[in-house]
Amino acid sequence: MTVHIVGAGLAGLSCALAAVDDGHQVVLHEGARQAGGRSRSWPEPTLGRIVDNGTHMVVGANYAVFDYLKRIGSENSMIPGPTAFPMLDLRTNRIWTATPLRLLGSVLASMWRMPRDTDSPISDALGRSKNYRRFWDPLALAVMNTPADKASALVFRRVLQRTLWKSQKASQPWLVKEGLSESFIQPAIAALEKAGAVVRLNDPLRSLERDGDRATKLAFDSETIELGPDDKVVLATPWVVARGFLPELPDLPASPIVNVHFRMAEPPPPPNKAGFLGLLGGTGEWLFVRGDVVSVTISGAAKVIDLPGEDIAALVWQDVARALQIETPPTATRVIKEKRATLYHTPEIEARRPAPRFGENLILAGDWTATGLPCTLEGALTSGNVAASLLR
Ligand SMILES: Cc1cc2nc3c(=O)[nH]c(=O)nc-3n(C[C@H](O)[C@H](O)[C@H](O)COP(=O)(O)OP(=O)(O)OC[C@H]3O[C@@H](n4cnc5c(N)ncnc54)[C@H](O)[C@@H]3O)c2cc1C
Repeated sequence: MTVHIVGAGLAGLSCALAAVDDGHQVVLHEGARQAGGRSRSWPEPTLGRIVDNGTHMVVGANYAVFDYLKRIGSENSMIPGPTAFPMLDLRTNRIWTATPLRLLGSVLASMWRMPRDTDSPISDALGRSKNYRRFWDPLALAVMNTPADKASALVFRRVLQRTLWKSQKASQPWLVKEGLSESFIQPAIAALEKAGAVVRLNDPLRSLERDGDRATKLAFDSETIELGPDDKVVLATPWVVARGFLPELPDLPASPIVNVHFRMAEPPPPPNKAGFLGLLGGTGEWLFVRGDVVSVTISGAAKVIDLPGEDIAALVWQDVARALQIETPPTATRVIKEKRATLYHTPEIEARRPAPRFGENLILAGDWTATGLPCTLEGALTSGNVAASLLR
């Protein structure tokens, strides 16, 4: 039996690693020149620095992430942040720290208020909390990439159960030391090749033929593969690509994220030891300082996604200048728009996410499948592991 995995994002990579560990013969087909999909880094010529397509944060409770990093020998490529989140309210210039202890009352109350069975927007449950505007609302946007008055309370509850309601360590943020590809992607490709898997980059799937419940033929740019009776296919592409091959998949609207990277003439003073700051009342929500590069993430970025890059950069720069109290403008700027960064996690869209088993020899993987988690690294890796378990 050969397992053909289409898409070398984190879902495809984790599925491939688990499948080779189970003794399967694996071919991983990636359409782009570079693996990693929505979680990748590259040397950006405008800045002369390695940048991530978007600064990714994981938390201590992301067990699939840490297991994966261990499997590929990359567990030392992450740095822990503080257990408290430093925040700056740009409207009032107030700096404060969101510590679990300080928010204990609100966190305990949220355990009672969040629904257990019937889904509704997060704001229905937490909207009257005294810390809604300055804590729950921005936290929900960061976790779900969907505004709290639209985002699914059941999915958010599942995240809280694993993190804030559990322990300080489970909620602790972690960031990559160098770049996403250096931590998550290149070591995974090396581990796969070492284990005997075939990795084909720059070779997109163009058509998938089926006979009833079975996938029968895969046509790539380089070759057409007739599937044998025991062969299996894991389709680990983004939802919009998967639906091109499987039109019966449900409609799953997406939510954008924009990242703005500024190269500075001198490394700016980091806002704190952790090198990152949550922003309230500005255009973006998170500011990161890595050496002489300042990066800002705008989640739920529908309001800015269609603006020209220069206009977005100008808006975000005002926040950076105020937050870091710097006047010298950046020497170079790069705006990265990810129009389909994640699903738009409303209760209605959550109910439509498909299960991974799609046909007799066809399995779906990707952060958009029904993992119960928001579209995150943890969700994508979990879906890859589940897909691999269905090959057994
Ligand atoms: C800007 C941004 C910021 C984010 N921030 C965070 C964060 O802070 N924390 C967090 O946990 N998550 C974050 N995420 C989410 C996380 O990156 C994704 O959930 C995860 O990377 C999705 O992985 P995936 O494998 O499901 O999909 P993808 O990464 O989309 O992988 C799919 C792969 O399929 C390939 N492909 C497409 N078409 C074809 C074809 N025809 N043939 C072959 N291959 C094909 C693609 O090139 C891609 O490599 C962020 C995402 C973005 C975009």
